[in-house]
Amino acid sequence: MHRHTLAELARLLAARQISSLELTRHLLERARSLNPRLNAFITLDEDKTLAQASAADARLARGEGAALTGIPVAHKDIFLADGWRTTCGSHMLENFVAPYDSFVIERFNDAGAVNLGKTNMDEFAMGSSNETSYFGPVRNPWDEARVPGGSSGGSAAAVAARVSPGATGTDTGGSIRQPAALTGICGLKPTYGVCSRWGMIAFASSLDQAGPLARSAEDCALLLNVMAGHDARDSTSVARPPEDYRRELAKPLAGLRVGLPKEYFGDGVAADVARAVQGAIEELQHLGAHMVEISLPNVKLSVPVYYVIAPAEASSNLSRFDGVRYGHRAGDYGDLNDLYCQSRAEGFGAEVKRRILIGTYVLSHGYYDAYYLQALKVRRLIADDHARAFGEVDVILGATAPSTAFRLGDKTDDPVQMYLNDIFTIAAPLAGLPAMSVPCGFGDTGLPVGLHLVGNYFEEARLLNLAHQYQLATDWHRRAPKGFGD
Ligand code: GLN
Repeated sequence: MHRHTLAELARLLAARQISSLELTRHLLERARSLNPRLNAFITLDEDKTLAQASAADARLARGEGAALTGIPVAHKDIFLADGWRTTCGSHMLENFVAPYDSFVIERFNDAGAVNLGKTNMDEFAMGSSNETSYFGPVRNPWDEARVPGGSSGGSAAAVAARVSPGATGTDTGGSIRQPAALTGICGLKPTYGVCSRWGMIAFASSLDQAGPLARSAEDCALLLNVMAGHDARDSTSVARPPEDYRRELAKPLAGLRVGLPKEYFGDGVAADVARAVQGAIEELQHLGAHMVEISLPNVKLSVPVYYVIAPAEASSNLSRFDGVRYGHRAGDYGDLNDLYCQSRAEGFGAEVKRRILIGTYVLSHGYYDAYYLQALKVRRLIADDHARAFGEVDVILGATAPSTAFRLGDKTDDPVQMYLNDIFTIAAPLAGLPAMSVPCGFGDTGLPVGLHLVGNYFEEARLLNLAHQYQLATDWHRRAPKGFGD
């Protein structure tokens, strides 16, 4: 059963050929038996999960099923789910039980989907390898000595290992797309504002977006149909009529204009990654797309700009974790100030502290103009570059990550090396644009390569169309890591 894609499982459930309970039991057992190896889940709660599966079966029996009724979906442990422990990968929230549902979880519940469990992640979504998690690193099913990417690494590993047919993630600088690339699956970060951030633990609020991870573009579309929607409780949620993200899947690619930014095809890409991306370009040309060389002159500043803006917002967002209202409280402290200091010193890991320090510095009097304000201006220039490009092309294409999955421990001593892994994914969230990673082949060591697609605002359906047509012509997305596909 775990070999089926989400779309196939939805058909089997709707036809009553399988029940949600048997599917869910099977996947829970798989999650339990693989977790000691992969560490993809922080929390599994069989009673809650199976209760939802039974309810889904009853709903299907009444003929009231929706597209995802009875489908198990794993959720990044950043989404509050009522009654579930929600840790955000941190000691700070190790014992925090969410008192309400996030918007995204609410939507999955309304659809009758089943919460399979809460997935491991970098602490407060800060990281590109899942190694900053308080709960230990996630391992990549393609090679367990390697990272699955981050910060949504647990969700990516669970989907790649055929434990969950689909999962949720969040992306601030690449956290859906980079792990999707490193584990050989699809991941989509929607336009900023498409999925409400209500109940999604905040990292950098002007960048954070929820999105789906799954094996195919069609499955991503099904998940996004549930996740997207307006919500008055998030002031940045966009009020637009609901769309069916599958509506353009079948459209031929003839005449599609694909932009190849010269900045994304230089020395910074490993030769094996470049080769796989080139193969995808040729396939897309074969399908009728036209390649156009373009330039995004300011994207080279994406990483420095992001590492001013994201820490600035994080330093403010994370000030709520003070040991008073919720989260970790130090056992031993003197006065109130000491309570704050001790609780935060004990509750946060090194990377989170680094970001809080950087963020506090760039926002401080005397440095605000030089760093934060300057970064906001360059952010605008990066958005303008994209706006100009979308006057000429429909989609922008490149590699998702500069290399295939690296080894655990390889970049942990050098934060800048770690940050550079997001060099191709950071511009899209800075501009608020939708972007997607799609498997497009394998590198020299047999590890998956991701193709990165960026669309204009609210053109998720176009990205999914391109990805789906590509997946009809290729089978990279059907390859399973050894030992996980049978
Ligand atoms: N790797 C980037 C960071 O560490 C992006 C993380 C994310 O998208 N949440 O901030």
